[in-house]
Formats: sequence, C-alpha cells, structure tokens
Amino acid sequence: MRRWNGWGSDQVDFPLTSAAKAYLADIIGAPTPRPSASLEDILHRIPPGRLGTHPLINTDPVLRLRCARGQSLPDWIALRFGVVDRFPDGVAQPTSEHGVEELLSFARKTGACLIPYGGGTSVVGHINPPPGDQPVLTVEMSKMFRMSDFDETSRLATFDAGVSGPHLEAQLRAIGYTLGHFPQSFEYSTLGGWIATRSSGQQSLYYGRIEDLFAGGRVITPEGILDLPPFPASAAGPDLRHVVLGSEGRLGIITQAVMRVSPLAELDRFHTVFFPDWTQGMSAVREMARASLPLAMLRLTDALETKTTLVLAGRERIVRLLERLLHARGLEQEKCLLLFGITGTMEAVRKTRRLALDVARAHGGVSVGRRMGNEWRKSRFRTPYLRNTLWDLGYAVDTLESAFIWKNLPSAIESILQALRKGLEAAGEKVLAFAHISHVYKSGASLYFTYIFRITSDAAQTLSRWQKLKQAASKTIIAHGGTITHQHGVGTDHLPYLEAEKGKLGLQALATLANTFDPHGIMNPGKLVDGRKQG
Ligand SMILES: Cc1cc2nc3c(=O)[nH]c(=O)nc-3n(C[C@H](O)[C@H](O)[C@H](O)COP(=O)(O)OP(=O)(O)OC[C@H]3O[C@@H](n4cnc5c(N)ncnc54)[C@H](O)[C@@H]3O)c2cc1C
Repeated sequence: MRRWNGWGSDQVDFPLTSAAKAYLADIIGAPTPRPSASLEDILHRIPPGRLGTHPLINTDPVLRLRCARGQSLPDWIALRFGVVDRFPDGVAQPTSEHGVEELLSFARKTGACLIPYGGGTSVVGHINPPPGDQPVLTVEMSKMFRMSDFDETSRLATFDAGVSGPHLEAQLRAIGYTLGHFPQSFEYSTLGGWIATRSSGQQSLYYGRIEDLFAGGRVITPEGILDLPPFPASAAGPDLRHVVLGSEGRLGIITQAVMRVSPLAELDRFHTVFFPDWTQGMSAVREMARASLPLAMLRLTDALETKTTLVLAGRERIVRLLERLLHARGLEQEKCLLLFGITGTMEAVRKTRRLALDVARAHGGVSVGRRMGNEWRKSRFRTPYLRNTLWDLGYAVDTLESAFIWKNLPSAIESILQALRKGLEAAGEKVLAFAHISHVYKSGASLYFTYIFRITSDAAQTLSRWQKLKQAASKTIIAHGGTITHQHGVGTDHLPYLEAEKGKLGLQALATLANTFDPHGIMNPGKLVDGRKQG
C-alpha cells in the first residue's frame, strides 16, 4: 500500500549502512529521531465535509487525508508532525468526461472550488486546499486511465489523463511503443499531472520534455470545452497547447491527451565517466550538448554529491576498488561523476558512445564502464525512498531546481550552494548541500540541488528552517538569472518569485487567461496565479 505520510509503497525501503549514517552525522550533526503522528491521530481531527451528499463525491476521511497534501517538504512536516490543518471536503473519482462535467456544474452551483489531482506527487504545494471558507472538492483522476486510441501511422496515442506512469507505459509496451517520459516520480505521477506541471523526464534529451510529447487533447473548463487538435505544426497564432502546459489545474481539467509515442528502442545503455573536477566535467557536458550528440541523458554530479552517492550506496568494497582505480588515474577528492545514457539501435548506441567518450577524454574524463549505469537504471525510482529513511533518522531532505544559460551557470551553482550551506548558521546548524546538472540544452542546463538538515522536535521550527533555506536559494537563483523552476512548477511555494521571472505584465496576462476559462475562480485557487476578477 502507498504510504500516507512518506514516499511510495510501504513494501519498499532504502536502508543506510552505519558508515553512511556516520558520514551524515559527521557533516550535519547527530540527528534525534522524532516520533511521527499516527494515522488515527490525524483522522480524528478531520472536520465533517461541507459539500452535502452527491453520488460522485466520497467523504471517506482516509481518502480526504490522502488528497490533502503532496510531497513538498512543508507537506512532509505537516503530515509527520500531525499538523495538517486543511482537508478537501470531499473527493470525487470520475470515470468519464461526463462525470467531470457534472462535477464542474456541481462546483458552479455550490460555490465549491475544484482541485484536479493526478498522483499527488507535487513538490511545490499544487494540490493543497487553499485557506478560506470556500468548500473544496478534490477531483482525483486515477479512474480515468485508458488508452482510447492509437494511430500507428501518425504515432499518436490518446490517453485518459489520469493514467499513471507505469500503467501508461504498460499499455504502450504491449503494442511495441513507449512515451519515454520517466520523471523520478514515475511510479505515481500521471499524464495529466505531467502536462499541468511541464514535467521533465530522465531521458528527455532523447524523447523530449512533456511539451514536445503533448500533441493535443481536451480540457474541460468552467466555461466550456477546449479541444486541441494534434497538428504536427501550425502557424495559426500562439499555440494553445502552451496555455494548457503548466496550467496547474488553474484553467480546467485535462481529460484526454494525444501523445507522440516512439517504437520501443532496441537498446538503452548507461555509462559512467569520472572527471578530475567540476570545471572539466562541465566543459565536457557543455561540448556534448552543443554538438547535439544523440544522447538520452546527461547527469553530472558535483564533487560532494559524487562522494555522498558513493557513501550512501553502501557498496563499501566495490567503492574502495573504484577509488583505488581512480586514484591511480590521478582523480582525487574533487572528482565528479558523469552518468550518460544512450538510446537507439545497436549501431547508433555504439557510435554515440564512442563520440561521447572522445569528448570526455579530451576533458580528462576516465570511463569506468557500464556497471554503475546499470545500477542507476535498476534503482532510478528507488532513490526517493531514501527520504523516508532520512526522516526516520531525524533529517529533512528537500530538492530544488532551476535552469541557467551556460554563461551564468558556474557562478550560480557556487552561490546557491553557499546560500544553502550557510542558511542555518544563525541557528548553529549545518546543512549538507550538493548539486548536479540534470538536463542539458544547447544554450544552458538545469541544476538540481539536494539539501539535508536536522529536524527539531517542533513542526513550526522545522518549517521555519526550511523557509529560510528555500528563500535564500530562491533569491540567489533569481539574482543569477535562473528560472524559479525548470520542472517542478509554481504551485504555492514558487508563487512569491514568479513576478521576478514573468514581470507584472506577464502575470497580468496569465491572470486574464485564468479569468477567461474560470471567471469565478473555482479552479485550484491560489496556485500559479490569482485570476479572480476584483470587485
Ligand atoms: C520523489 C519525486 C521525484 C520527482 N521527480 C520529478 C522529475 O524527475 N521530473 C519532474 O518533472 N517532476 C518530478 N517530480 C515532481 C512531480 O512528480 C511532477 O510535478 C508531476 O508532474 C506531478 O504529477 P502528478 O500526477 O503527481 O500531479 P499532482 O501532484 O497530482 O498535481 C500537480 C498539478 O497538476 C494539476 N493536475 C493534475 N492532473 C491534472 C489534470 N488531469 N488536469 C488538470 N490539472 C491537473 C494539479 O491540479 C496540480 O496543480 C518529483 C516529485 C517527487 C515527489
């Protein structure tokens, strides 16, 4: 069963060795485990729903709790300390577009607001009920999961938007195809959620980000239906797909999506190279990106993330052998790990591997083969389970991400890491912070930061530690010309920084759009943009 107050299935764990625990304690300080609130404690405090009875609306308290929070660190703090203060008044699980229309009409009549809910894996507060007196109806989409059409000639597959990653891929795999969209939340996140947050997958260098894969579809809005035909290209004014991409449930409910799919690749290969330091690694990655090598992924971890990954992996003997080998090649403390993936035919994979390794060697890279890449592939969706282990030990872990043009990237990474590492100095607390380049483009790359700090015995104090770190990092991102989010979206957590990126006029345009589709502000209010008409 899926955990209600943590990540993933309660049958899966990510244990740490004692050496790994000692490593963390040495950098951050010894943690104190804090007891978590029990499910019963929280269920007792859920107030009665305010929506009345309706055949499509479920008021089961467990379901209401499960839909109350996502996966952001503030969500974790609320769930683990048992201080969740707002719950949806009811949860509907429509099975058809007709059901969705009925729910929108119910909301219009009753004045309730609707929160579209995919897999609830949002890490920025997207699906949390807003403050205020408006009753909240969460529309949980998991019962709309079918592939309703497959056009092999055009390689387009039409899915109901509530389909989860594994279920979508299983339906395509059965006919020899793949979407190729693999965010790390793949196990639980859904197609509608990916589109509504402009998500990015681990192999998006090959298959494309979700905006490249989303050809068209249907959105049911409070003002009617928006149909987006899957043209291969169009010059008919601004592309309305881009109004829906990243709309965060603010305009309506995406019910169907027509997706560009690919035949299953002959081969997926993942290789590992170590560089003497970050600067050389980054130059190699930039050269590969500029050369448009047909790679599926490139992930360059900084020296501290490289070291931490090797320690937390727990394979002490193998890591010792690896360290010895790298030492013999002159790679020491500052070494950085590059994982690169290649997808395609046997011939294309072989050719691309040779080209990528030529670039790597020219920048001091040492190839260590495929073993670590294979391990990464096997455990690519398991890493988030570490969040459970760390919390149980007494550590909070959060991630944040941005994208920069190449020119700004070196100073940005250094400054953001410093902002995080020094963020709790006033409280006498240490923060373990490291980063990797996660997606590359010709003109720049995205940076993905992980930071770990100690939980206190108090929810408000722990939240305040997170707020300090998040604010310091977000301001530094903006100061260095980065986007406030490369893939996680805006939700509530990035809302205060959106104006710096879009400008006043840009925000006004977004609010006008929201007003057009949702003039009464019933769709996911308080997220992305406040589009309610004043007066
Ligand atoms: C461990 C972990 C790893 C992650 N890794 C990645 C990653 O690699 N790449 C990445 O991009 N993100 C990642 N994320 C973030 C998150 O998984 C994505 O934002 C994802 O796209 C959310 O999908 P979801 O189905 O869970 O949506 P939800 O969290 O349920 O909702 C997110 C937003 O989408 C809206 N929405 C959902 N469905 C619909 C619909 N049918 N119609 C209209 N609006 C809808 C909601 O209203 C909400 O505003 C990760 C999160 C976690 C917890």
